[in-house]
Amino acid sequence: MKITKTQWPIAFTLIIFVMAGVFSFSGCKKKSEPAAPTEAKQVVSEAIEQTICPVIGGAINKELYTEYKEKKVYFCCAGCKEKFEKEPDKYISKLPQFGK
Ligand SMILES: [Zn+2]
Repeated sequence: MKITKTQWPIAFTLIIFVMAGVFSFSGCKKKSEPAAPTEAKQVVSEAIEQTICPVIGGAINKELYTEYKEKKVYFCCAGCKEKFEKEPDKYISKLPQFGK
């Protein structure tokens, strides 16, 4: 396809229009992508393997834990913590951090 002299200004305007559109689009895209993914990764790496209470299987409370064999064991409530401390061997098989 041959562009004639009279068509040039139209073609040029179109190119400018497309380029401006691309720039504004990429600029907008950058703004809408904050550093959130790295923050989420930190949370994951910080998160422990254990997600359930070894005593009754409830969701753990990260404020409630005891240290057993240098590893943190989390519980859903204070009662479970007491039970674990009395008989840790009974519950240890349910803990991923003591697996293998
Ligand atoms: Zn509990």
